Amino acid sequence: MNLKNLLPDFVSLFYPKLCVICGKPLVAGENYFCLECFLKLPKTNYHLNPDNQATDRFAGKIPLAKGASYLYYNKGGVGQRLIAEIKYKDNRNLGEWMGVMLARDWFSSDFFSGIDCLVPVPLHPSKERKRGFNQAEMIALGIAYITGIQVNTKNVFRKKANATQTQKGLFERWRNTKDLFEVNNLDFFKDKHVLIVDDVLTTGSTLEAVAQSILKAKGVKISLLSLAIA
Ligand SMILES: [Zn+2]
Repeated sequence: MNLKNLLPDFVSLFYPKLCVICGKPLVAGENYFCLECFLKLPKTNYHLNPDNQATDRFAGKIPLAKGASYLYYNKGGVGQRLIAEIKYKDNRNLGEWMGVMLARDWFSSDFFSGIDCLVPVPLHPSKERKRGFNQAEMIALGIAYITGIQVNTKNVFRKKANATQTQKGLFERWRNTKDLFEVNNLDFFKDKHVLIVDDVLTTGSTLEAVAQSILKAKGVKISLLSLAIA
């Protein structure tokens, strides 16, 4: 064994990396999760079922080619911990890694076939500056790394920073997200199959608003993907 192989373990002896779920020190070959937590990830397998709880949320609202979520969000559980780690603890690389894991898991299915580009749900520029990154974009980059599908972050933009949605009623939410997004160049999406990517799917109103803005392009097809579903 040469020094180069020895070094990472040597470093981790002093600064052990910890499992993002249970906090146990990781051993060589483990990334972000210990094996036990990795095996317990609450996967939905929605990608194998065209009619699932993710697509149900958009029934009668937008025409969807495909839709799926990777994990159950379940409050207080693993899904919620992961999202909090990505969003609020500045763990952008974990976001990208989750995209890689999702794409590896789904690669043998036909979920990504026919998709021309990935569009992460944009944050308002002021929010992105504050956080330093867009978590949906990190997930999309991880997916792109495995699938080779391009990520487009330039064409859809958020017009206003909306206040937190959680306190509001359904109508208020709808009014708040309507026309929230706009597309710079609709021709870019013409006849393309666009996969919109987000971190958590809750009511679906944000994803719906992004989809509505893209659906103004001629011949465009829309699919949706979220890392977790609440
Ligand atoms: Zn663990």
